[in-house]
This record gives sequence, structure tokens and C-alpha cells, in this order.
Amino acid sequence: MIRKFNKDTYSWDGVETLVYKQDGSPFKDVTRQVLYDGAYDIPCQFRYFECLPGGYSTLEYHEHTHMVMIQRGKGQLLLGDTIYDVEEGDFIEIPGNTIHQFRANKNDYIGFLCLVNKDRDKVKLLTDEEMERFRENPAIKAFLESC
Ligand code: MN
Repeated sequence: MIRKFNKDTYSWDGVETLVYKQDGSPFKDVTRQVLYDGAYDIPCQFRYFECLPGGYSTLEYHEHTHMVMIQRGKGQLLLGDTIYDVEEGDFIEIPGNTIHQFRANKNDYIGFLCLVNKDRDKVKLLTDEEMERFRENPAIKAFLESC
């Protein structure tokens, strides 16, 4: 099966564009497309997420691993306690139990393909106290205020 990619809309034939999350977790201007929902001998989900300029994904962590490839634009990734500039083509492994967030803070979209196991644990958010401690790092504070 082939789903043709539309370069103008960053969408694939027959794939719906959905709201990023509906679990009440904080994010801004992010969409989700599920390209593959597990079949045969590949029990994985393959998704495409896109943040509009100024948008950001949820600041979260969990036990499961993500394999990510940037598909569109450029922005920043917070991974653990480090902030990276990322752009189209970059490949990223997000290990389990590592805090992460993508931000479209470079006046561009940031779109990324993300592979996860179908069988995975729920996302965890930082508590208010953890968040306060996290923001004591000036680089992280600036990053969190950058959209
Ligand atoms: Mn995640």
C-alpha cells in the first residue's frame, strides 16, 4: 500500500489530521496523523506530529522509547536537561524516562515522524514542584518561555 505525500500540506493520502492529544495535557497548536497503526509483525505506531510556528508539544516523560525523525522545518528539542536545535532530516532517539518537548520557536513549523510501540505506558507530566525545580536551570527557563 502506498499513501502519497502532499508536499504543500504535509499530509498523506487517506490519512486524517487529528488533534494532537485529547487527554487534557498542555500543548499548543499541534496536529497528529497516524500513518501506521501496527499490523503483521510490526507492533508499532508510526505517527507524524506538527507544531505550527509558536507551537509546542507536551513536556512529558514515560517508560517507552520514541524514534523520531524531523520531517519539516526547524525548532528546538528539550531532551533531559539539554536543549538542541533540530531541523529536517535529524534523527533522534528519545530514551525511556527522559523528559522531552518539541518547540516551533524558530519562526518555522516543526514536523516530526515518531515511532512508538503499540503497547506502551501512559505519558507522565511534571508535578508543580518538579516543574519549579526544572525551571531553576536558566537555559530551560528560557526554552520554556520561547514560544
Ligand atoms: Mn513522548
